[in-house]
Amino acid sequence: MANALRSVALKGDSISTREWGKRGALAADLREAVPVHRGTLEAEAPLAPLSWFRTGGPAEVLAGPADEADLAALLAACPADIPVLVVGLGSNLLVRDGGVPGLMIRLGRGFSSITVDGMRVRAGAGAPDVKVARAAAEAGIDGLAFLRGIPGTVGGALRMNGGAYGGETAGALVEARALDRQGRAHVLSRADMAFTYRHCGAPDDLVFTEAVFEGGPGDPAAILAAMGAITDARAATQPVNTRTGGSTFKNPPGRKAWELIDAAGCRGLRIGNAQVSELHCNFLLNHGAASAAEIEALGEEVRRRVRETSGVELEWEIKRVGIAQPHSRS
Ligand SMILES: Cc1cc2nc3c(=O)[nH]c(=O)nc-3n(C[C@H](O)[C@H](O)[C@H](O)COP(=O)(O)OP(=O)(O)OC[C@H]3O[C@@H](n4cnc5c(N)ncnc54)[C@H](O)[C@@H]3O)c2cc1C
Repeated sequence: MANALRSVALKGDSISTREWGKRGALAADLREAVPVHRGTLEAEAPLAPLSWFRTGGPAEVLAGPADEADLAALLAACPADIPVLVVGLGSNLLVRDGGVPGLMIRLGRGFSSITVDGMRVRAGAGAPDVKVARAAAEAGIDGLAFLRGIPGTVGGALRMNGGAYGGETAGALVEARALDRQGRAHVLSRADMAFTYRHCGAPDDLVFTEAVFEGGPGDPAAILAAMGAITDARAATQPVNTRTGGSTFKNPPGRKAWELIDAAGCRGLRIGNAQVSELHCNFLLNHGAASAAEIEALGEEVRRRVRETSGVELEWEIKRVGIAQPHSRS
């Protein structure tokens, strides 16, 4: 590799101290290392269009592998000191303004198949949750309607243990398939996933490629009606058609984050173009031109006020990724 880079592991929700390499060098190195790569590989790829907040800097390299074999080859060729991060539909991500150094992976069409077998649904990690919910409903499989309420991919649902309206990923998952940093495939049982509330304890460096869910027999019309009710409830209580990252903070044990935020007087609080939603005050909004720094500063101000008024330390549910400062390019 021509491109010698200094790095530390890029955690899903922490500041990376890795410096950007020479412009385009990592992409060139990866193309050289994986000449058979069949997917896309883009240097300095804008990430704002890929996140619900529509803000933040670029990815040093954004790869769209064609299929699992292609992804495995890419991971095997990527030096261990290059951070790797996956983006699903970006509905739980705040991409910082300095961008994301290293290799970012986006699973596209080659990872979006959905097949039904009896009471089981096998879905690629790039498949939208809503499509999984619909396929299950139409096949008369009950127990996956909650996925209708989560605007992400199967991969994001696995990593976040996404849940809504009484169901969560942990309750419906049979097994997940993943590649490790060396490109080796693993099958993880539900127990291996070590799920807790909005958290998956499986190793951070796994890239999920597929999941098998299971439900019980149900009436398609009734399940579709339940999904419709979820859609209506969401529209009435959440700012779903805005630039947001969904619930910003996890609910502390036995408490509701939104109630603590409301009690701290933060409903409608604003920093620049970022605002705490009036409709659901655990949601932060980008009114158009907010920087990631403004959104994150607003979240930190909410945490400070909640700590002062209730003594509770709110924990970010949204994954903040990348570097907080604009990077300098050579
Ligand atoms: C309007 C709105 C409403 C929401 N409502 C809910 C809700 O009711 N319940 C709920 O649980 N969430 C909710 N969310 C949050 C979000 O939709 C979920 O967390 C979702 O599971 C994220 O999926 P994603 O594909 O968008 O992941 P991203 O936001 O792209 O990524 C989230 C995390 O998952 C990781 N990841 C993604 N794909 C993979 C993969 N293939 N392998 C390994 N890691 C991966 C990313 O690296 C990151 O750490 C809401 C968000 C919005 C914007």
